[in-house]
Amino acid sequence: MSGSENQASKTDKGRPEPDSPGLIIAGLLVEDEVLGPEDLAYAQRVQEKLTSDDGLTAVIRELNLATQDQITASLRKHRPKIRLGDLLLELGLVTPSDLRTALAFQQQFPEKKLGEVLIETHILTERDLIEVLSIQLGFRNMEAELHDIDPKIFRKIKPEWMKKRGLVPIRETDEGVLVAFVDPLESEQIAFVTRELGSNIVVGIARWLEMEAAIERMAMAVQPQTTVTGDENEIVALVNWLLAQAAQDGVSDIHVEPSKDKLRVRFRQDGVLVPFREYPIEIATPLMSRIKVLAGADIAERRRHQDGRMMVVHGGRELDLRVSFYVTIHGEKAVLRLLNTGNMMLDIKEIGMSPRMGTRFKEDVLDVPGGVVIVTGPTGSGKTTTLYGAVGYLNNVNTSIITAEDPVEYVIDGISQCSINTKINITYEETLRHIVRQDPDVIVIGEIRDRFSADTAIQAALTGHKVLTTFHTEDSIGGLLRLLNMNIEAFLISSTVVSVLAQRLVRRLCQHCSEDHDLTPDELRRLGYNPAEIKSPPRFKRAVGCERCSHRGYRGRVAIFELLVLNEPVKDALISRKTSHEIRRISTETTGLVTLLEDGITKAARGEISFEEIIRKLPRLSKPRPYHELRRLQGEVG
Ligand SMILES: [Zn+2]
Repeated sequence: MSGSENQASKTDKGRPEPDSPGLIIAGLLVEDEVLGPEDLAYAQRVQEKLTSDDGLTAVIRELNLATQDQITASLRKHRPKIRLGDLLLELGLVTPSDLRTALAFQQQFPEKKLGEVLIETHILTERDLIEVLSIQLGFRNMEAELHDIDPKIFRKIKPEWMKKRGLVPIRETDEGVLVAFVDPLESEQIAFVTRELGSNIVVGIARWLEMEAAIERMAMAVQPQTTVTGDENEIVALVNWLLAQAAQDGVSDIHVEPSKDKLRVRFRQDGVLVPFREYPIEIATPLMSRIKVLAGADIAERRRHQDGRMMVVHGGRELDLRVSFYVTIHGEKAVLRLLNTGNMMLDIKEIGMSPRMGTRFKEDVLDVPGGVVIVTGPTGSGKTTTLYGAVGYLNNVNTSIITAEDPVEYVIDGISQCSINTKINITYEETLRHIVRQDPDVIVIGEIRDRFSADTAIQAALTGHKVLTTFHTEDSIGGLLRLLNMNIEAFLISSTVVSVLAQRLVRRLCQHCSEDHDLTPDELRRLGYNPAEIKSPPRFKRAVGCERCSHRGYRGRVAIFELLVLNEPVKDALISRKTSHEIRRISTETTGLVTLLEDGITKAARGEISFEEIIRKLPRLSKPRPYHELRRLQGEVG
């Protein structure tokens, strides 16, 4: 897409040029006998009289001379040679002034493609753009294929060229070689690929972000990496490669561990440790030294445990890693934890709450000015992610947010984050003592770990602050009881705690291979149902395994939630020291609480998680309600 001036489809007088996109599209409609020649003439007369900038296609649609479906069908059938900007304008997806802004911007940055510019200037989202190209013009969306690139095909074009020209060759099929393009309307690039590959190509599209990531991943992967000799440059490249692989795959930890005769690298992915590569033991020492240099640890020290921190830039993203070196009988083992991998879901909308729960969490919990909000669950249940999501939601120029974290796991612009560091005497207690004096509106206490931090949270809430914090308990009611057990007065808890959100992370079924699974009476019983009472049990899915999920049957993770928003009956139950069973019953009956088990059942019925994961991960403290009732409670129906 070149930034030329005749992108706009009208002349000064408002009359379409003979080869304007509007006329090209109208011509196709006439050819397909959707539109008669007299209809076209009529639409043109109407358009001339219009004061608006509506394109001919929009006028045809508004006059009901053709439906959007008919227009789309003709576009898909003929795929006319219209430039992206003209097409978007003609379809009414951008305004002429938007397009002028974008083209002016493009003149300053000629290397950028129009699609990119439209996205960067927030005129269109990348998703909209892909939708236009795939739905309107029928270009195949190849994002899923980007995860399955054939190295043989990939090697035929230099990665730098792919980046410059905005394309990625994927693999050979019966119809030709699949190639994803940023802008599939650029005939010059299509000609280039056809020439380089010397075969038919199938033109597809994908988001540039995904394509760029795929290019980097493949560029690294096609380099031979198993015959490392220990040469310094090679070691540097190997460490970079390992970090890049881990970042791309959404790995949370990298384990580099020596044994008697080899060095093993394993990745923790979706909570499970999986073997990645093995290397000759000879490279252990230079490899460890390189990691130490990056992490700011002592290279000369090889007989004591150490830790460090490193920041590396990969794919335009800053990776923050915490590194721990541990001395074993076979030498040092390093574990690198990636603190801000793609697993971080920073938008509260994306943490996976059901529609109704998501609305309540925002309106009844986060939007309420003061009070304590507790996120609870075991280690690795995604509490920090939810906490950051909430902070992201509350973060604006009129709000002062301050944190005490051990350590800061994700840096958010616009808030004051403090990382606990006992080495230099920044202790948790010391930090919490100072935090309130900073005139904050929102205080984030990384974790309530003792009576002191609990008191700090309660005191801050009593003086009108909003406090977000985490806790280690099984479920939401457990969070309240735990505070009682810390000898905090029940009336203080009931007057400050707004909400307790319990959560778990469970493995997400691979959507490519999971198969239907009808629950057996025994399985229903294990969920807490009485099989005799359930007329039509929900249908679940089960894990199978395929190429795309490395035959694990699972890909990624899903968060399961239990949101308790305290109301008067629950507060009364707390003050009168009712049993946990009673408090749970009252919460379920009066607050609209959906238990972890119930949220799990709802997500399993949607095919996201399996029966096995429910049994493995979710507490079954009370009988779940029937599925149709759960759907209503979760806001999925009615
Ligand atoms: Zn699969």
